[in-house]
Amino acid sequence: MLVAALAVAAGAAAQSPRPPVALVVIGGTVITENAQRQIFSPGAVAISGEDIVAVDRPEVIASRYRAAATIDARDQIVLPGLINTHTHAPMVMYRGLADDLALMEWLEKYIFPAEAKTVSPAMVRTGTRLAVLEMIESGTTTYTDMYYFEEEIARVTRDAGLRGVLGQTIIQFPVADAKTPADGLARAERFLQEFKADRLIVPAVAPHALYTNDETTLRAAAALARRYQAPLIIHLAETEDEVKIAREQHQATPTGYLESIGFWGPRTLAAHGVWVDDDDIEILKRRGVGVSHNPESNMKLASGTAPVRKYLAAGVALGLGTDGAASNNDLDMFEAMRQASFLAKHATHDPTILPAAQALALATIGGAKALGMDALVGSLEAGKRADLITVSVAASRQVPLYDPVSHLVYVTRGDDVQNTIVNGRVLMRNRRVRTLDRLAVIAAANQLAPTVRAAVK
Ligand SMILES: [Zn+2]
Repeated sequence: MLVAALAVAAGAAAQSPRPPVALVVIGGTVITENAQRQIFSPGAVAISGEDIVAVDRPEVIASRYRAAATIDARDQIVLPGLINTHTHAPMVMYRGLADDLALMEWLEKYIFPAEAKTVSPAMVRTGTRLAVLEMIESGTTTYTDMYYFEEEIARVTRDAGLRGVLGQTIIQFPVADAKTPADGLARAERFLQEFKADRLIVPAVAPHALYTNDETTLRAAAALARRYQAPLIIHLAETEDEVKIAREQHQATPTGYLESIGFWGPRTLAAHGVWVDDDDIEILKRRGVGVSHNPESNMKLASGTAPVRKYLAAGVALGLGTDGAASNNDLDMFEAMRQASFLAKHATHDPTILPAAQALALATIGGAKALGMDALVGSLEAGKRADLITVSVAASRQVPLYDPVSHLVYVTRGDDVQNTIVNGRVLMRNRRVRTLDRLAVIAAANQLAPTVRAAVK
């Protein structure tokens, strides 16, 4: 309604005073990621309430709107906030705890035992605060999560002002927040109810993987998500072992097996999708499944190389993710873009694959499409939620600047982000996070660290 009112008022600007807007981000190179991939250099973004009301040249915005507040983005790049389509936020507490291992050994000897001894509502809150701080500081404005006590993650995320598609984990064996899959499903349903109308949190159902859930549980998780029209998130075909398990137990690929039990549908998101064949890709495309590509985690765990070229050629909705910080080991989406581009080139012996513009699209509008949220976020356009970041290009490694898109993908780091705005709210201004007490968040994580360390000794 406000958007419509402002548009009408803007049309009559010559006769009437300029309508007020809450915030204008002005100056700098504005990379919109709209369908035309429009870039304003310089540009400006007008924000009112939760929404972007206009994106244009600075003089046009200044002549049309009266800004209650401005952010001067001269000598910066302004772009849509980055979208991390796969992580496990509280796992920042396991960062660096066990490296240089294969996925199954890493999970079974270190991560699952550490989780069994340390996951609690308090641990999840402490870890999520640290993760959310890192994400705000490195320019992520929407993230997708799969973990335990997801309602705690949701409350911390909402309080910090970040947008989240947050999935309550469902897993066959007893875990900290559920003794049985039925408990997990009941917990997931309460979670869906509690957050279904939230402005920032999209609650989701997250069966961990096909090798950690039986068919009854997978079917029940899918049915629950459909009943609430909620996203359904799963790890898919991350390793070759998973394909072996699916072939032995179900005589199918992981993707094919999940297709055979009616798991896939719109608003399903598959994390990794490394070991897929052409038939699998066709299924994922036909079912409208979003795929989260996690190049850094896949390389570190030597899981394999997702067929990014084939996904893109098939028109699968592809986004980028960091995965949890235990397998990356950070949540910096700039690095995810860079590594996605390098890995695709390295794997195909073709340096023209996944150029900078395409890597940037995967981390913004591509991630939004993978999550089915592209009507709301992923680009800077009037009517979308005001989720944007500004990036300094003042570091020595960023000089000279010929092509801002090249710089964002090939030299920018999360630390270069200056301002992070989500849903119209400034979460970080000039690198000062306003919604979390940075020192207290870090102190709390450090205080918990010895307990985590002791759990795997
Ligand atoms: Zn994962």
